[in-house]
This record gives sequence, structure tokens and C-alpha cells, in this order.
Amino acid sequence: MFSHDQSPDPSWVSSGPPPGRGIYCNRTLNLRSIKVIGYDMDYTLVHYRVNVWERRAYDYLQQRLQDRGWPVGELAFDHDLVVRGLVMDIERGNLLKVNRFGYVKQGFHGTARIDVDTLRRTYARTVIDLGDPRYSFLNTLFSLSEGCMYSQLVDLLDAGKIPTIQAPPQAAEAHAGYRELYRAVRANIDAAHTEGQLKAEIVAAPERYVDLDEDTVLAVLDQYHAGKRLLLITNSEIDYTAAMMSFTFDRFLPGDMTWRDLFELSVCGARKPGFFESKAPLLEVVDVERGLLKPVIGPLRAHGLYFGGNAAAVELHLGLSGDEILYLGDHVYGDVHVSKSLLRWRTGLILRELEDEIAAAEGMHDLHLGLAAMMAEKERLEWRFSQIRLAIQRKKVAYAEPAPEGIEALAQQMSRLRTELVALDERIAPVAGAAGRAVNERWGLLMRAGNDKSQLARQVERYADIYTSRVSNFLFATPFAYLRSPRGSLPHDPLPVVTPPKLP
Ligand code: IMP
Ligand code: MG
Repeated sequence: MFSHDQSPDPSWVSSGPPPGRGIYCNRTLNLRSIKVIGYDMDYTLVHYRVNVWERRAYDYLQQRLQDRGWPVGELAFDHDLVVRGLVMDIERGNLLKVNRFGYVKQGFHGTARIDVDTLRRTYARTVIDLGDPRYSFLNTLFSLSEGCMYSQLVDLLDAGKIPTIQAPPQAAEAHAGYRELYRAVRANIDAAHTEGQLKAEIVAAPERYVDLDEDTVLAVLDQYHAGKRLLLITNSEIDYTAAMMSFTFDRFLPGDMTWRDLFELSVCGARKPGFFESKAPLLEVVDVERGLLKPVIGPLRAHGLYFGGNAAAVELHLGLSGDEILYLGDHVYGDVHVSKSLLRWRTGLILRELEDEIAAAEGMHDLHLGLAAMMAEKERLEWRFSQIRLAIQRKKVAYAEPAPEGIEALAQQMSRLRTELVALDERIAPVAGAAGRAVNERWGLLMRAGNDKSQLARQVERYADIYTSRVSNFLFATPFAYLRSPRGSLPHDPLPVVTPPKLP
């Protein structure tokens, strides 16, 4: 924790950021050449206590479904049921973990795990395309209440307990009912977010929901004084934005400074992702409390508060384009995917879960080395097994130089190798299983799918130039950092030589 009048502790100057608090770089980004830094608000500048926020959003969703006569009274929000980056298959009522190629690696139907064979049968010919309306990606921490309720409703539908929707003849077969559940969840969570009651509760007691972070304010202040032009672009409503920004920023700013002084331009109700492609008019907010707006005539007012609008209007005002603007947000699609693919803005994803993810990966370092050693041994045995099998084939058909041993002796060697492989698999399974349950018992690490990168990781590397767990990690980087991406790895790179630790 740094305060304004405290110089940084030289220990971290030499040792770098604490574990998990780095700024990770997919495409090299020189912060010195960035003129503008745009910020999303919710879960970017303002971090919520996820459990408290999502539980409350879930309560509203639950109440609204109950009002429709659905028997959801007994349900409860379970924060471990779903994680960001999963895909909902709304045709079959499944939640899926998908790898970077779009192949399904893990799945749950409702809240029940789908066994490997069923999963393979169901998705063998399917590549998950996030552009297909059959799939819904959990883009942000705001998606957790929605994903949790959807899974639980699938269970209720299968049990024939949703009064207005006919249960599918066989659970998990494609059925219109699963899509209807999704529509109901979507419409009602939307309403919970937009109808005002939930937000009013948060504004009335922000200390219950918000995780205050003085360091975030200091990091933004560093950028401001380094001459960066700062923007706030949020989908939140005017009064909610003003309340949250005042609560989280003003207390930590020096003197009479307020959050409005930091941002050259603040845009509420931006309707991202539409903001990045629409021509929606930008309106000036003239009265925050009453939400009074007026059309913009002439140049934008410095430190003005605006509503709606579009990215082209912002670029015009700034007199800048894509590669001089860095935009930071937490929504994989609405903040980074669209701003990158349509406008080529430089992008950064705020991914709070990264801290647990990295801590778990470090905790499992020895386990992974052990696993790698066992897999190397498995490869060696399999290679030997295949060689012998080929030698038998050649001997039987007599078409190549025969091996000196007889078929009988070769078959015995194969049988010994098979026994060794079975024993090795028995040692590998629990270790691989433990690795697959890290952080979340059901889903494992967000950025991994089995041995590969997850679809979330792929989205991140494709659309986010950088990613980091929180805005305050810029304190360690400073506004002047040259962030370099590591050399990309390829399957044919020479393997690092590792000495595996002894496994228990
Ligand atoms: P931002 O992250 O600062 O752009 O703001 C996100 C805003 O979108 C917050 O006000 C959320 O309450 C709101 N929001 C999040 N999820 C949903 C949704 O599913 N429907 C409608 N609004 C949402
Ligand atoms: Mg956000």
C-alpha cells in the first residue's frame, strides 16, 4: 500500500511487483507513446465485492422469476458454480469449458457434470463459435449470477418443475425449453441492472459492495501528472457513475480535486459495445441528479460529463486515432474485443481472477514438474511400444529388414510395456486431476483447458494487448514503461531441461 507522501519501498523497485500483480503483455506496448488512457468504470476503476454484488443481483433475479410463478424460492447463489470464460450452450442447457480451438473440454448439464463419453459424443463435430447465438460467453464478473441461475433452472426444467415450459423428453437433448430459460434469465437480469432498485441500494450503502483501493487512484493520478489525457467511458447510468466515482476516488485525491478533474472527458450510458461502432449522439449532462441532457454544439467541454455518443466522436475530439489510445476494461467482448477489432485501439483487460490463478499455478509448480516428468516417461514407453508393434507387423508380413527377436519375445516385451503404462497412468491421473481442480473444484483455472489454453485465454491474447489483475498494478509499471511481450513459444521449440522434484 502506497500513500501520496511515501516514496516507494526500494525493495519492490528491485524485486518487481508482488506475485500475480504484473502487467502481462501479448503485444508490445510502449506507454510513453500512449497519449490517451480510457477507462471503463465497473470492475475496472471500481472493484466490487463480487460475492456481495452478485448475490444481490441474484436475489433480484430470483424474486422476479418467483413473481412469474417459477419455484425458485429454495435456490441460492453459489459463487463456485460458474466462472468467467465459460460458454452457455442454450440449446442443450449446458455450461462448457472450451479450449483455444473451440473444442469442448469440460461440461455440466445444469449443475451435473457431463461424463467424458457423453461430452465427446455431443460435441465431437462441434467447434464453438462465439458468434453463434446458440452460445453465450460469460464475459465479466457480472455474468456469474446469470450463469448460476441458468444452471439451476436447467435442473428444475429437467425435473418438470417450470410451470410454463414443457420439460424436454430427455435431459440435455436440444430443446426449445433451454433457450426459453435463457431468455427469461437474460431479460430479468437485465431488468435487475437497469430498473434502478439494485443500483439505488448500492448507492445508499456503497461501503457494503465496493472494495476501496487507494492505489488505483494513485496509479491514475500518476498517469494524469505524466500528461496522459484520461477518459472515463462507462455503460453505467449518470447518477450511479457520479456516486460510485465520488465514493471511490474523491476521498483519495489531494486537496479539492475530484474525479471529474482527472478525466478530460467522462461518458456515461455509453452502451458498449455499440459505442465503438454506432453513430449515437453524444449529449452533455447538465444536471447529474435529474439526468438533464443537452445536445453538444461545438467543441466538447474540458472535464465535461457526457452521455451516450460513440468512439468516432471521441476520436474526433481528441484529434487522435487507434494506436495512441489505450482502453482498459473488464468486459472481454464489450471493452476489448470490439475496440480492438473495429478501431485498433490499444487494449488492456482487467482480470481480477488472475491473482488467484497465478498463486495457484505457483503453488502447483512442483506438481506440474512432476506431471511433466511422468508425461515424458509415458511418451518414452509409448514410443517403445509402437516400435515393437511395428517390428511384429514387419516380421509377420515380411516386407522389411526383420528384428532379431522372435515374435513371441517381442509380444512379451509389449505386454510388459503395457503393464508399465497402466501403472504410470494410475500415477498420472490423480496428479492431473488435482491440477484440473485448482482454484475452482469444478472448472479449474480460467486460462487453461486441460493441457492447453482456454477459449478465454485465446480471447485475451487475441484482443487484449495487455492484461492485469487490477488498475493499481500500473503503480509498479509506472506511466513510462515499455511493456514487451515474451517471445511466443512454438511446439518445435527445444524443451527446457528440468529436473523433476520427487513426488510423494
Ligand atoms: P461498465 O463496466 O463501467 O461499462 O458498466 C457496466 C454497467 O453495465 C453497470 O452499470 C452494470 O450494472 C451494467 N450491467 C452489467 N451486466 C448487465 C446486464 O446483463 N444487463 C444490463 N446491464 C448490465
Ligand atoms: Mg466494466
